[in-house]
Amino acid sequence: MIIIKGKGVCGGVAFGKLELLMKDTNPVMRIRVDDPQKEVKRFEYAVDRALSQLKRLYEKATAEVGEENAMIFEIHKMMLEDRDYLDSVISNITTQKLNAESAVAITSDSFAEMFSTMDDSYMQARAADVRDISERVIDLLTEKEQRTEKSETSVIAAVDLAPSETVQMDKNKILAFVTEKGSGNSHTAILARTMNIPAVISADGIMNPSNDGKDVIVDGFTGEIYIQPDMETVLKMQEKKQKNDEQRELLEKLKGVKPVTKDGKEILLYANIGSVEDMSAVYANDGMGVGLFRSEFIYLERNTFPTEDEQFAIYKDVARKSLGKRVIIRTLDIGADKNADYFKMPKEENPAMGVRAIRLCLNSPDIFRTQLRAIYRASAFGNLAIMFPMIISLEEVKRVKELVAEVKTELKKEHISFNENMELGIMIETPAAAIISDILAKEVDFFSIGTNDLTQYTLAIDRQNAGAEVFCNPHHTAILRLIKTVVENSHKEGIWTGICGELAGDLSMTETLLAMGVDELSVTPSLLLPLKQKIINTDISKL
Ligand code: PEP
Ligand code: MG
Repeated sequence: MIIIKGKGVCGGVAFGKLELLMKDTNPVMRIRVDDPQKEVKRFEYAVDRALSQLKRLYEKATAEVGEENAMIFEIHKMMLEDRDYLDSVISNITTQKLNAESAVAITSDSFAEMFSTMDDSYMQARAADVRDISERVIDLLTEKEQRTEKSETSVIAAVDLAPSETVQMDKNKILAFVTEKGSGNSHTAILARTMNIPAVISADGIMNPSNDGKDVIVDGFTGEIYIQPDMETVLKMQEKKQKNDEQRELLEKLKGVKPVTKDGKEILLYANIGSVEDMSAVYANDGMGVGLFRSEFIYLERNTFPTEDEQFAIYKDVARKSLGKRVIIRTLDIGADKNADYFKMPKEENPAMGVRAIRLCLNSPDIFRTQLRAIYRASAFGNLAIMFPMIISLEEVKRVKELVAEVKTELKKEHISFNENMELGIMIETPAAAIISDILAKEVDFFSIGTNDLTQYTLAIDRQNAGAEVFCNPHHTAILRLIKTVVENSHKEGIWTGICGELAGDLSMTETLLAMGVDELSVTPSLLLPLKQKIINTDISKL
């Protein structure tokens, strides 16, 4: 038995024969031509046919893996219509009197090189896309239209897989994907997750020709690949696969089912995310929207403050990808355990109770205003909402609303469009906010209870302190009473209350929370379907 250790990017266990996907490595011939105009026409005709193929692929992918994942083919279409790309190929043909194939190959190399040297990892990933569209055109020019067709079921291994190759495969014939290269954020990994096919990347040595056709087990959870596994491994992995298959089958059936309790209350079942990339997991697990986008991760990922335009691009991306579903962006929650050097925050004895979250934003209105402007600008592109963390007083909410009003006035003066009626909510994660929630409810559109901090501040137990954990009971009556008070106060004012702390995903508490009247639960994407199962089996009227 040989064990190869890669990185699992989509969970699941697959047994099968390994099929090494060797790409056609015939180099493109560089030929001098007498009639460049004829080559330009051949190139233009190939581009037309490639665009039609991409249109069909977009439709196929939309039906199979959803519009969001199908977007990659729209992007390919746009890349193939890009004037710079087209002009570069045509100029290679006409100035160097080259055949169309080699002119495309040269442009492909130089554009891919340009993308791969960019700082931004998203742009680096576009290098694979430009190669993909160029190969498509070259295949059409050389009449090699059959790309990556296969007949038997197998575990597919490749050096790397382009998104279009992945989606063109018949997913009923693919047991797992393994690649030597690739990144967890690549569209291929995203597609694998959406198709729910076990996938492992960075599997060094998988393309050794002697592996072709051998029996293999892929563990997409651990990233382990067993080639010619021994009996003990086979039995162990069979058991793992069976458990996972049973669970997944049960949950898959819930996709498309509304999270409605037996007595008819529909719960807003949302997801918590930390980046735009997480949106694919929200879709793959049938999330109705995003209940908490932890925007501070944008700040934590870098060494300097993200500019308004940088943030705008991220919020706009998430707004577009949400396809009309509500996305609640939580404003900067820096401080305590989440810190970045460039904020140059003075050392605090007790940072969890220090100048964190909204306090920091109110102390540094420039930082806050930049983020608010970015979110408001992005609100024109989707159903965004904002919520503010660590609120303790009515005065804070009023000050926040003043700043919001100023930002809106500025944007209007600058003729920048935004959603005038974007919903504003607050997090209830301090006992103070819970206790005065009757007053706060008059000021905002919704509440979202952050039970992680609410527990820490109510029980006076540092959430970071492992030694104190034994004293921490997240089901403490004090916390449950606060939640109940908040829900009741919100309903009196006609607004809704959700929970986005970890308690929302605690399935042993779902009935209790629903009985209290909680309207929304926001959890990590992988918990969406198990939680939905719990909701549809709950009858609130009987609790
Ligand atoms: C919470 O406190 O419950 C919460 C959701 O916010 P965070 O965990 O990011 O502090
Ligand atoms: Mg919190």
